[in-house]
Amino acid sequence: MRQYLDAKRQHRDAIVFFRMGDFYEMFYEDAITASRALDLTLTSRAKDASGGGIPMCGVPHHAADTYLTRLVHKGYRVAICEQVEDAKKAKGLVRREVVRVVSPGTFTDTGYLDDREPVFLMGLVDRVAAKVGDTYGMALLDLSTGSFVATEYSGPGGRQALVDDIAVLQPKEVVVPEESALDSLWVDTTAPTVTTVDAWAFDDERARDTLTTQLATAGLDGFGLADRPAAVSAAGALVHYLRETQQGQLAHVRELSFRDTTDTMVVDPSTLKHLEVVRSTEGARPGSLLDLIDQTVTPMGSRLTRDWLLRPLVQLEPVRNRLDAVEEFAFSTSERGKLRDILKSVHDLERLVARAAMGTAGPRDLHALQRSLSAIPRVKATLQALEAPLTGSLVAELDEVPDTRDAIEATLADSPPALAREGGVIRDGVDPELDELRVISRGGKEQIAAMETAERERTGISSLKIRFNRVFGYYIEVSKAKLHAVPNDYHRKQTIAAGERFITPSLKEYEQKVLGADERILEREITLFEDLRSRVATAAVPIQESARALAHLDALAGLAETAAVHDYRKPHVHAGDELVIVEGRHPVVERLATHAFVPNDVMLDRSSHQVMILTGPNMGGKSTFLRQVALIVLLTHIGSFVPANQAKVPITDRIFARVGASDNIARGQSTFMVEMQETANILHTATSRSLVLLDEIGRGTATYDGLSLAWAVAEHLATDPDARPKTLFATHYHELTDIADLLPGVVNHHVVAREWEDEIHFLRKIEPGRSDRSYGIQVARLAGLPVRTVARAKQILQGLERDELATGGRSIQPASEATAQTQLALFATPPSDSELIQRLRAVDLDRLAPLDALNLLAELKQKAE
Ligand code: ADP
Repeated sequence: MRQYLDAKRQHRDAIVFFRMGDFYEMFYEDAITASRALDLTLTSRAKDASGGGIPMCGVPHHAADTYLTRLVHKGYRVAICEQVEDAKKAKGLVRREVVRVVSPGTFTDTGYLDDREPVFLMGLVDRVAAKVGDTYGMALLDLSTGSFVATEYSGPGGRQALVDDIAVLQPKEVVVPEESALDSLWVDTTAPTVTTVDAWAFDDERARDTLTTQLATAGLDGFGLADRPAAVSAAGALVHYLRETQQGQLAHVRELSFRDTTDTMVVDPSTLKHLEVVRSTEGARPGSLLDLIDQTVTPMGSRLTRDWLLRPLVQLEPVRNRLDAVEEFAFSTSERGKLRDILKSVHDLERLVARAAMGTAGPRDLHALQRSLSAIPRVKATLQALEAPLTGSLVAELDEVPDTRDAIEATLADSPPALAREGGVIRDGVDPELDELRVISRGGKEQIAAMETAERERTGISSLKIRFNRVFGYYIEVSKAKLHAVPNDYHRKQTIAAGERFITPSLKEYEQKVLGADERILEREITLFEDLRSRVATAAVPIQESARALAHLDALAGLAETAAVHDYRKPHVHAGDELVIVEGRHPVVERLATHAFVPNDVMLDRSSHQVMILTGPNMGGKSTFLRQVALIVLLTHIGSFVPANQAKVPITDRIFARVGASDNIARGQSTFMVEMQETANILHTATSRSLVLLDEIGRGTATYDGLSLAWAVAEHLATDPDARPKTLFATHYHELTDIADLLPGVVNHHVVAREWEDEIHFLRKIEPGRSDRSYGIQVARLAGLPVRTVARAKQILQGLERDELATGGRSIQPASEATAQTQLALFATPPSDSELIQRLRAVDLDRLAPLDALNLLAELKQKAE
């Protein structure tokens, strides 16, 4: 137990898997936790010093992987404590050490990972500076591929941007300095596993040293990290943490890039959710935009497409480059088809090379890696004639790493096993020692086979057999009936029902040869395999570069495939202001709808069409229209073609979408509260280059509150001189259409519906002008509300409409444009208040004695009550 307690002391935050013979045992609290998490029976071990039994449970060593996976999935860390010396040779207690700590962010076993998603391990640090505010350093490492980036967040929106990024990136594990308060950065529903690391690992100097050693460079300037101490600190601490916990090498973590937060479009988590970019509202991938447009054929291409969608580009040139490359692929049907065919034989190179570097790749992995590299010359040949600059530079980056490829091919057997210890890994002719051992083993086996014939002849027992089992090794079996013919030099070993088993000295001699050779063959094969694997690891960087280029080609060709299959067109992206979409469609709804999708146009610019107020009945197609505009703009920024006949898309810095309800009961917030938070965020952060989509703002509260809020929000968006973002504003408050009469740049559109024989027909067409009515009752009828209830609602509506006419028509007064202050007659000040105000106005403070002031206050208070 002392050994166990030592290990536990060093790994307090982990469950310790303590190797004892064929089992990993867990004790005390760990045993209780694990037995619950894994459904294991809890037993109890001999009493400890205090007299109590020690709770304990265990898992068999050969099945440990599945248990590990389950624990890690549940967010636990596991420290694996192995016997580090041979039990047979050990004097006294076998030495044990923790050889590896696995955790959600470092566990990269293939069975555990979804190959279409990254596994992010994040490092975070907070640099507090009195005047300028906090600067956050963030580093993001995908150990399964070696991709490593760092960034910094500062300034007024810095913290929020980081919070958003954490929610979007969904790291599996976050490494923070001890005693930091950084865990306030994520909401409980997306909380990752948090790992604390000694604060000194985050020190500037220390972090810099760790990184330069890991990246094998003299300085960090080449990585764009010269003046980024917070980013360096987070990245350095991450590497430190991995060195402490991972037994394997990190030869695949050789590049670190600084990611400028302004290089990509910010798609915040709520926008992602409302637009169903990577997951549908049900939370699954099917039904999302990603699922539809991801036509890649390799896991690397698939991960990259996802990454593009989460981080669209915001600079004109890169967007155009991608669009041009996609265009060429879209029209080069034959090249595209060939490329995709070849890529089907390319495996997950990024993850394979990472496994080689970490020492976890098996023979089959290296075989797959070699086959993938072998595909590269064919890729090059296929794309030779293509002219898009991006495609050209990607092809130029392709390196088939011939030395490594040939070494694997020359060394590995044709169809090697998954694990080296299964044997049969290395080809004949690779290693003289191995060949010799194989000759001995084969010779021994042949000799034994020959001995069977010889012994049959010598003894006259034709049924005599030479067999092998693990207990006795080779033995001679003779059936009962022939036992009398057994010669004297046979030594009896065992009696069985059918007869007896014998050995002879010469048989044992051959056996020695064979078994000794077999054992040494296995050892030798493992050594040779490990050498080969290390050799591959040294080529990690060029292989990673090729993998990256292949992933890009796959993703570009995938987008072209999508464009061809779904009839998308190339958008014209530009630095100006106008957003024009002709016959746009919603990419997902058009695929899923059972009826024909009705395309719609949009035209927005900051001069005359800045805010579009969209009215019309529920179910009319308002949300779909809003989403489709956002998705077309988003697709353009990843370099994709779009579902529209024509699209002219301005470079957009952010898309804000608040479309459809988003309940967040889990967080204990009401729908209305969430809606207002999201709206607040939009009003604070939207710029003149943003696209804002708001749907039914204010629905979650009382009508008048809602209407006033919706009005004020629309007005803010239309008048805020610093921003005035292009906005689509869908609402069922018809009153809002009046804003178009009051403010320039605000226009009305509506979704068309027709009533025919008392039934409503949705035409799903967006047209200029306000809609005449809301058709709420007709929609309710459509939804199956009882006929009686519908009739009654109509009656009430008629009554209300009469009352409204009697009180003088329109209830909302125009806003004065200069002040942008809206006076709503609906909330006209009640008489008593105005009385109070009048009274106050009449007071001349300069002539008011203290006592009179008190009296006045009393009088006002009395009136107010
Ligand atoms: P609203 O937001 O006005 O309540 P939605 O946008 O939710 O309406 O649309 C209601 C339904 O109409 C959707 O489920 C969708 O299938 C269908 N729909 C919306 N727009 C179109 C369109 N342009 N063409 C065909 N069907 C559409």
